Amino acid sequence: MPTSLPFAALIAGAFALSTAAATDSPDPLTRPMPGKPEWTRAHAPIRVYGNTWYVGSEGISAVLVDTGAGLVLLDVGLPQSAPLVEANIAKLGFKLKDVKYVLNSHAHYDHAGGIAALVRDSGATALASPSGAKALREGHVVADDPQASDVANATFPAAARVREIADGEAMRLGTTAITAHFTPGHTPGSTTWTWKSCENGKCLDVVYSDSLSAFATGGFHFLADATHGDLTESFRKSIRTVANLPCDILISTHPDASGADERLAKLAIQREPNPMIDTQACRRFAANYEKMLDKRIAEETKAVQAH
Ligand SMILES: [Zn+2]
Repeated sequence: MPTSLPFAALIAGAFALSTAAATDSPDPLTRPMPGKPEWTRAHAPIRVYGNTWYVGSEGISAVLVDTGAGLVLLDVGLPQSAPLVEANIAKLGFKLKDVKYVLNSHAHYDHAGGIAALVRDSGATALASPSGAKALREGHVVADDPQASDVANATFPAAARVREIADGEAMRLGTTAITAHFTPGHTPGSTTWTWKSCENGKCLDVVYSDSLSAFATGGFHFLADATHGDLTESFRKSIRTVANLPCDILISTHPDASGADERLAKLAIQREPNPMIDTQACRRFAANYEKMLDKRIAEETKAVQAH
């Protein structure tokens, strides 16, 4: 029996052990899911306006609101992005434990996958529409989600504390009210959130719009089929809702879907005038996605006629 091992061998052995342990038992709530590289690429946190901060990755938004009586986070991103968002919150000098609510736009893994870890690490409660809350609790997209057939991406970490909010209801914390506007279409539970942010006595309307893309997988139709009625009109209503919101600053769930990526990049080098302010951004964003819906419905109509 050897009485001693060279020190280096011991260190190497210990290192190998800890590395193996790390790969065998990663944190189940931040286990990586696939996506575009920019979805998980770090982005420096930045003050958008007043009490509103961007803390997301380069390609997926996460927005922090400091209510003065606690923090509210809107979305997190992918499961593996939770540590990145938490680090961004810390970099701004905020405490993770002060995050009281995590609001969700829609329960797809690329926006909601990291909510379970954030809720666990901060002690916050997740807040979503009833359909969104169901998906967050189950860690699975709802059965009537247009992308439900994308089985590989349908499951994500389930959040421990989830509460429902009603359409038009506001989450109130401190002096801040963040209002939920249900904008179903991209998912049945899609929610757009609005609040006022003030800077030097000037208060602006901030819109965190959910995705409005008419994207589906498998045989899903937005037109009526055997499982549901025609979803087109409610989708159009959602698009009109976003178009008509009081909107000085728009941040979309994917920043590049509304040009918010370019506005954020400008903001990093110039604050006055604030490049995030664009009172036409919501209208333009909605108009673009109305065209996408029109195209999608035209294709579906053609496919039905071809049968
Ligand atoms: Zn989505």
